[in-house]
Amino acid sequence: MMAWLSLALLLQVDAFTIESKKITPEIRKEIEKLDAIRNDAFDSAKKQVAAKLPGEFQVILEAVDGADPDPAKFTRHSGMTAETSSRDHPKVKIRFYVEYFANGLGSPESTLRHEMVHAVMRLDLGNEKYGKLPKWFREGVAVFIAGQMQEKLSHGLMQPSVAKDPETLLDGLEDADHNLGDYWEDAMAIVSLSSLPMRGPLWKVIDHVRDGKDYKLAIEMVTGKPFDDFVKDAREHATKSLLAQVAQGRQMYGTYAEIARLNEESGALCETFLKQWPKVPLRSAVLYYRAKAAKDEGLAAFDEFLASAREPHGKVDFIDDAKLRKARLLAKKDRAKESAELYADIVYWHIGSAVAIDALYEWGLLIHPDAKAAPLLKRALELAPKHRLADKAKKLVE
Ligand SMILES: [Zn+2]
Repeated sequence: MMAWLSLALLLQVDAFTIESKKITPEIRKEIEKLDAIRNDAFDSAKKQVAAKLPGEFQVILEAVDGADPDPAKFTRHSGMTAETSSRDHPKVKIRFYVEYFANGLGSPESTLRHEMVHAVMRLDLGNEKYGKLPKWFREGVAVFIAGQMQEKLSHGLMQPSVAKDPETLLDGLEDADHNLGDYWEDAMAIVSLSSLPMRGPLWKVIDHVRDGKDYKLAIEMVTGKPFDDFVKDAREHATKSLLAQVAQGRQMYGTYAEIARLNEESGALCETFLKQWPKVPLRSAVLYYRAKAAKDEGLAAFDEFLASAREPHGKVDFIDDAKLRKARLLAKKDRAKESAELYADIVYWHIGSAVAIDALYEWGLLIHPDAKAAPLLKRALELAPKHRLADKAKKLVE
């Protein structure tokens, strides 16, 4: 009986379905690894938020292309690695974009664990109550439970303004433009809630939300103080933790901020940095600035950066820009064929960055009058008619 029951539970988290023209054997292997941990990710999310799930439910896992592989049908995409949605409660869908496995998904496993927390809470609370929770709470719980605190802190500290003045990372839980840079602060508020001297305060907040209470009231009921005081205390807690974590590295973060400020003139300082701190999370970002600063001689340095970007702590959001700069350098050095291949690669695998449009224009202009050029330029003109290369492109296709 027990064996049958647990089997029935297992079947509620489906294996990935792959709906992709871009899938490669390597990406397939990454997805198999995710399939192997999907039940564990689900069970641990369920346990850690003490979820009360409906009797029947389904978690659907999907890998899809963010954009069509045909460059003439080029589209921008969201810039999201994965997303969780539910139109048809109690069914929840976690969708991974295939491009990210190739180009910028450093840790698919923690991403799945993160999305699984969103999925479990959606199933538990239903779309309406879950949707009413503020973003900091939803993301904070997901980051905390998926074990992404360090990853998100590194990500935050890679922003030069934050490296220069770490406390700017803490811009308020309920700030208007909530983005990835806020995730560490969000999770710290959940940590601060979870470290109260009683059992399961996070669970109790979720219990009250499940009962239909507003999240602010739920937090007040559990912490026994006004919501604003909770926010203030969480901020103090986060500030203390942040300052302790960067205390050893003040000089390093300061140097990094200066590298970003010097930008294309930062070559010498990059060398100093890499010699002094060869194995820190900021290394990948510094390799990017070093390649940029090498100007016409940056080819090998861009390759070194690109390799680093796909490792843990890699500066993934610079990948497309680095490839674009490398493609330009190749063209400049009369290596047009390699340059065209790299432009094609950016357009094919891009992860939503604005430079993909530059690549589409520059690729078309580079290979013109080849017959393949016109569809690229036409598509670029459709999507970005006011681009700085639009006039040039128009003359060639009209
Ligand atoms: Zn999330």
